[in-house]
Amino acid sequence: MYIDSHSHLFDVRNLSNSDLKDIDAVIVLSYSKATISSALDFCKSNSKYYCALGIYPGFANEYTDEIEKFIISNRANICAIGEIGLDESYEIPYDRQLEALHRQLDLAEKLSLPVSIHLRTKRDFETFFNILTNYKNIKGALHCFNGDLIDCQQALELGFYISFACNITYKGRVKLREIAKIVPDDKLLIETDSPSMLPASFARKGENVPANTHFVAETIANIRGCSIDKIAKITRDNAIKLFNLKV
Ligand SMILES: [Zn+2]
Repeated sequence: MYIDSHSHLFDVRNLSNSDLKDIDAVIVLSYSKATISSALDFCKSNSKYYCALGIYPGFANEYTDEIEKFIISNRANICAIGEIGLDESYEIPYDRQLEALHRQLDLAEKLSLPVSIHLRTKRDFETFFNILTNYKNIKGALHCFNGDLIDCQQALELGFYISFACNITYKGRVKLREIAKIVPDDKLLIETDSPSMLPASFARKGENVPANTHFVAETIANIRGCSIDKIAKITRDNAIKLFNLKV
């Protein structure tokens, strides 16, 4: 029924069948040097898992020639480059983050793969959109979208998909829900970013899991005034198209 378009599922402890309830596919992304192997190995365990490899801005120092060669050698086993991006709130120097991002965008272009992008601050969004003007052929998704309406419109103009995570269920995220109303059907994705970011209905401490994609779909269906089934279908179709999945 659902495709969870962004998860770090290898980090979930005690994963059970119910954690994948109604889930047809999960995009499982690395974020560091260590998790590149974890993500690849983990994805061999279930045909619903589709691997993406990349180095996240918080670990930008770990992006090396060796990592790049390793990703290239695994081209046949991956559906995207990610999680990559920019995050001004991290201590790691912005120059270093930019270098890792540029190299991984080059790699995505070279390997004809889409990208899953993490951006947090206004500067991150503006910088990324500027960079993207040099990459006409790159397709991708802004994962766990948390920008404003202008950021969303710019991303859509650049052909990017907008992926909403469980923070859209939080009471205070009124503006985010307003933005989710205007994303065209053919650019909408849903995700959990599991194991982090539990939906609002899970006040207890714990780990997020792909089955919670349902709460994102339910919230978006409510604000767009359509059925949950419709949101499941359009986001499933979009994920299949963007990540070239054989679901
Ligand atoms: Zn993530």
